[in-house]
Amino acid sequence: MFDTVVVGGGLGGLVAGVRLQELDLSALVLEKGAEDGGLNNARISGGLIHLAWGAMDEGRDILRERLETETDGEIDPVLADVLADNAGRAIEWIHDLGIATQAKSDVIYQRHALYPHRPGTGRRIRPEFGPDRMITTLYRTFRESGGTIELDASVTDLQRDATTGTWTVTYRSGDGSPDKTVTARSVVVADGGFQANAELLSRYVGPNAGLCALRAMTSATGDGLQMMLAAGAGATGLGRVYGHMVSINALVDDEFWPYPALDKLCLQGALVARDGALFEHVTSTGVELVTLLARAEDPRGYAVVFDDDLWNTAGRDNPYNTAVPNPDLVDRGGHFVSADSLDDLAKELGVDPAVLSAAVEAHNAQPTRRPITQAPFHAARVVPGITFTMGGVLVDGDANVLTPDRHPIPGLFATGSTVGGVHGGPHGGYVGGLAVAIELGLVAAESIAQADQKAGA
Ligand SMILES: Cc1cc2nc3c(=O)[nH]c(=O)nc-3n(C[C@H](O)[C@H](O)[C@H](O)COP(=O)(O)OP(=O)(O)OC[C@H]3O[C@@H](n4cnc5c(N)ncnc54)[C@H](O)[C@@H]3O)c2cc1C
Repeated sequence: MFDTVVVGGGLGGLVAGVRLQELDLSALVLEKGAEDGGLNNARISGGLIHLAWGAMDEGRDILRERLETETDGEIDPVLADVLADNAGRAIEWIHDLGIATQAKSDVIYQRHALYPHRPGTGRRIRPEFGPDRMITTLYRTFRESGGTIELDASVTDLQRDATTGTWTVTYRSGDGSPDKTVTARSVVVADGGFQANAELLSRYVGPNAGLCALRAMTSATGDGLQMMLAAGAGATGLGRVYGHMVSINALVDDEFWPYPALDKLCLQGALVARDGALFEHVTSTGVELVTLLARAEDPRGYAVVFDDDLWNTAGRDNPYNTAVPNPDLVDRGGHFVSADSLDDLAKELGVDPAVLSAAVEAHNAQPTRRPITQAPFHAARVVPGITFTMGGVLVDGDANVLTPDRHPIPGLFATGSTVGGVHGGPHGGYVGGLAVAIELGLVAAESIAQADQKAGA
């Protein structure tokens, strides 16, 4: 029997595993992916470790304020305290393992960027860049400290025996061999959310949200969420997603995600539906727009219309120092049409010119929008791209999973994108996926160690 079974060999799971071993507790990590390093999003991430767009070592009070502001006060206050309290020592712990970060720019949230910096390139594993090196280092450290990792091990069931207080974890491999079970005193679930499960997206986010582009690995199918709900967990914020607007080509071609993101063009240009009618919205952030469109009837039916002026400003905007629509969308062969008049642009888009013209007129009449006036006119078909689901199970300040009425479920812990209550708010407040996975991974392991000490005392 192991002290702890960790479900998911990604960032949160490996941080918990390494910390458990440091605290003299035996951990088994079960990872769905068959290849070493697993199928986690951390290894293909942009590698910016930040908390609510602040630097991890910026100081507790500043970070606490940032968390509140970013989520418009909707973050669970207990988790806001935990994240603000642990940010500084979490980044130190990462550095102490030999994981390198280096500032990507002078912008504060880019201070701790995993090094060497990774360019945005779809689902490809790139061992030469910092995000993959972080995961490799965590795997190596975990094994060197005596931890066990089983690959091609997809967890399917969690059962607690109320008499012995132990958990039985059932898992299977992709080769069709019989299911296996393992028992442990505690379980840490770190399976990364449910963005890769179209059925769950449609159930929780919007009726057709499963049609959005997946801007992430295919592994996060919500197994953890479903198993924890079955074990009596409560959940929060399941209707919220983090993501960016991407080219329609992202549905079939990895070269079109994670970048270029078309958020700025979509926020400033005229977003039109499949028939050319204006999609009216008052959103101010890309994440909010993605959430809105993910809830729409026809998430794949939108195009953004803009003029040359916007193409040369918003189209070139480059806050993340990554690929941008102008020129990368065109260079990569993404959908993009141009015309000297709106009527001709309508023909290119296959919509009624009168409908498109009315859409642009309505757009131009809104005082908060940039008017579309300067030929040539352009359009690109877009789709909301979901990076990860923001909602998840309720946890307390010990990363202990809670029932709907907030009672801790003994021995059940969670970290990373399977946890709810951290991101959110009306504008899609995003507090940083890597930071949450690392910090709650540390907290979960330490809570388990503390409970173990108490039980042994
Ligand atoms: C393109 C992209 C760019 C990003 N850039 C950034 C960034 O710059 N900064 C930032 O803070 N965040 C970023 N993120 C988000 C960040 O990567 C995630 O929030 C973070 O990796 C979540 O950690 P996790 O441990 O919850 O999940 P993951 O790291 O994804 O790990 C989950 C693991 O669980 C495994 N798993 C799933 N189901 C099972 C099962 N049933 N049994 C066993 N194993 C299972 C998966 O295979 C996977 O290995 C980005 C994400 C993407 C996709």
